[in-house]
Amino acid sequence: MKEVKGKNNQKSNVNKKKNQSTIAKRIASTKIEEKKVEGPNLKELEMDIKEDILHKPPHRKFYLPFYFCLFILLIVLFIGMHLCVPSITLNGDNPLEISYHQSYVESGAKAKWLGKDLTDHIKISGVVDTSKIGTYTISYSVKEGIFEVHQERIVLVVDKKAPSIVLEGDADVNICPNSEFKEIGYQAIDEYDGDLTDKVVVQKKEDSIIYSVKDASGNRISVTRNIHKVDTTSPTITLKGNQTTYLGLDEAYQEPGYTADDNCNGDLTDRVKVTGSVTKGKEGTYTLVYEVADDANNKTKVERKVIVSQRTDPSSGVVKKGVIYLTFDDGPSSVTTGDILNILKEEGVKATFFVTNSGPDYLIKRIFDEGHTIALHTATHNYATVYSSVENYFNDLNTVSNRVKRITGQTSKIIRFPGGSSNTISRNYSVGIMSTLVNEVLSRGYRYYDWNIDSQDAAGANRDQVYRNVTSALSKNKANMVLMHDIKTATRDAIRDIIHYGKENGYTFERIDMDTYMVRQRINN
Ligand code: ZN
Repeated sequence: MKEVKGKNNQKSNVNKKKNQSTIAKRIASTKIEEKKVEGPNLKELEMDIKEDILHKPPHRKFYLPFYFCLFILLIVLFIGMHLCVPSITLNGDNPLEISYHQSYVESGAKAKWLGKDLTDHIKISGVVDTSKIGTYTISYSVKEGIFEVHQERIVLVVDKKAPSIVLEGDADVNICPNSEFKEIGYQAIDEYDGDLTDKVVVQKKEDSIIYSVKDASGNRISVTRNIHKVDTTSPTITLKGNQTTYLGLDEAYQEPGYTADDNCNGDLTDRVKVTGSVTKGKEGTYTLVYEVADDANNKTKVERKVIVSQRTDPSSGVVKKGVIYLTFDDGPSSVTTGDILNILKEEGVKATFFVTNSGPDYLIKRIFDEGHTIALHTATHNYATVYSSVENYFNDLNTVSNRVKRITGQTSKIIRFPGGSSNTISRNYSVGIMSTLVNEVLSRGYRYYDWNIDSQDAAGANRDQVYRNVTSALSKNKANMVLMHDIKTATRDAIRDIIHYGKENGYTFERIDMDTYMVRQRINN
């Protein structure tokens, strides 16, 4: 080492001065001593010392191990702290995003301390209100000795559901060419924000309308209504007068008129073409055809039948031979009328009910709604009342007429006299009243109908007798006007077989209308 070497050199220099006289003797005696004398000179030694003072830190040997130990100690402390403090690990997502109204399910956490499971000691607090969008915090904490640790889970309740837009009317709308679409209406509802109809943005394009809306959370929806400028709707032709008209041999046909209307072109009556003709005095069924087309060439065609036939009394109507008119008097009855209506419905047969003030309203309504004819029989059906005077008769008739009007909304002008127009019982109350009444009802616009087949159900005929009385009297050479009573169980029980008989033997069934031939009996009072 240089320092050791330096000390030796200093000593050698002193010895050199003291023993200069003895040097020569010793030079040859030993090599070691010679070497000592030959050491570096003084200048070189000074240089060495300076170099050491300048460049070497004086305490270097002591500090280096000290830092190293400190570092190790810190690591040990750090690891120690970690081992002593409990740890919490959350299960599931954090942050957790859930939809509005979806329920929050706590997925929990795990806690450990020095390998020991502290999960059961975790305290969880915080509430998530999933009915309100927002940010919620759930806290988890666990305590062990002096150590307490916390964790938080952020729960975001969000509205990700877009609002809905409901269009009134169709999503595909046809409008007339050269017309503008008129808004039919729309509604926008968001499950979270409620009614957003006012916020809908309506964008009009050439062939579509786009409805868009955004909720408060930025969820968007848009709905398109397609507009087609096209006319696919045919005009309508309305015939004035009856679709089937009856004429006697001495009557000439006179066109009652018609109108035609179109959704795009408006009134097209002037464009209607009528073809066909009726020959006066020549029996037969004539067809008149009414046709019209709109600008888009949508066509409409309707027909009117004109039946020319001989008849003794022009007001009586045309005899439809082979037709059966099932007529039911004195009802309705809550016991039997419903069953009869069921059978008529199942058989697809329409009939006529001469109603009174008896029975429930709903049956009158049902008779009407199911397409049968509601006719009037008088309210009380009490001979002493209705045949006591003309005035009393009409008062009673008006009572039942008002009932029917109240229930059906329509006035019936088809009537049947209690006991028929040929009855003699009326003579007990007013002589000659039937002769007066038949003319009086006709002049007041009523049509009255007697019968030419009597089922005898009112006289007590049983089911089989009712069936026989009716079927044996049917004829293809007349309009078969069958008298029955829907208040009778025998009639109820026989009616299906009577209908089957009629169908199997080529008869058709019709209800009475204002054109039906008036089957009338001879007046006896
Ligand atoms: Zn009657």
